Amino acid sequence: MKSIISIVKCQDYDQQRVFQATKKALDLIGGINSFIKPQSKVLVKPNLLLAIEPETAVDTHPEVVRAVVKLLKEIQCHIYLGDGPNVWGNQIENLEGVYRRSGMKQICDEEGVELVNFDKRRWRKKFPLTTWLDHCDYLVSVPKFKTHSFTVFSGAIKNLFGLVCGTYKTELHKQYFKREDFSKMLVDILEEVKPALTVIDGIISLEGDGPGTSGKPRHTGLLFAGQDCVALDSILSVIMGLKADEILTTKEAAKRGLGISDIKAIELKGERLENVIQRLFKLPATSLKYRIPQPVVELAKKLIKYYPCVERDNCTKCASCIKACPTKAISMQKKGIAFNYKKCIACFCCQEACSNAAIKTKKSILAKIIGL
Ligand code: SF4
Ligand code: SF4
Repeated sequence: MKSIISIVKCQDYDQQRVFQATKKALDLIGGINSFIKPQSKVLVKPNLLLAIEPETAVDTHPEVVRAVVKLLKEIQCHIYLGDGPNVWGNQIENLEGVYRRSGMKQICDEEGVELVNFDKRRWRKKFPLTTWLDHCDYLVSVPKFKTHSFTVFSGAIKNLFGLVCGTYKTELHKQYFKREDFSKMLVDILEEVKPALTVIDGIISLEGDGPGTSGKPRHTGLLFAGQDCVALDSILSVIMGLKADEILTTKEAAKRGLGISDIKAIELKGERLENVIQRLFKLPATSLKYRIPQPVVELAKKLIKYYPCVERDNCTKCASCIKACPTKAISMQKKGIAFNYKKCIACFCCQEACSNAAIKTKKSILAKIIGL
């Protein structure tokens, strides 16, 4: 299997520039016709985490989604756009807020695209996935390039988690609470649902304690396109200063033959990889223990720990984190939210669900002492 991935520079979210850059990224890998048959039904899935403005870089930027939509319209596709964001349950009013504030509603209105809810599910293997996958001929995934406190980063493979309907995502966090198991579960979804095409928004990416508001936007000025999610994620990990096989989803997916993780075996088009590697890209605080030698981790794993903690000045007591916690480890007290660390599985769903950057990462004493 040969994987062709393109990397194209794009300095900002100007509508014309994003369209030209996205078109170039697709032309470099053979053009949209190589992946999608004209006049087909296509589900476009951005990464929408919160009801929040595009400037925060938490959700895929609407102009990248618009560019993909326009290219699909050029080949007369019928387009459905949707995601299963972090609204915890089938609270349609919250979902509408996500679509409106992320800019997706406006794009759909302006481009004549149907905005859909993932409210109907069909069990596929062990996952209740949106039935829009059945309705459509193709899935086009449009992730955001960002860090992730639990999986280190979120790119092509992680974006597919949003295809799981409603609150079952919380259930999966509880069931697969170890990072290794959670990563394998994400690869199970990839195995079940292979996108025909993935276009990644890395124009403004998110570094630090992503994928939510605790991360920090960083101008990376790049767009990526390809069919192979493993190859795309491998390229992203190198750009952020990691090795491809340091990311568990990439390693597992490559092991199962779902794509190529060997950078030398990936055919790169557009920018040269060495020219776009980001210097001092800030990883999530939780990721560092995975980068020290495994024997050291084994010796110290009970002592090197990361927990969520609240920054009370930023907390509005909205309770989103309480709803998001799969183990009910958070409660509302008089002074605000409180954590029960005996119940906490360090999944950082609470950090992900907080729109106010009020949940930070706390390190155990040993992690602090040895500088992790
Ligand atoms: S920490 Fe964030 S999500 Fe939790 S109650 Fe405070 S503002 Fe809301
Ligand atoms: S408190 Fe936060 S990190 Fe701990 S289990 Fe709940 S959501 Fe996960």
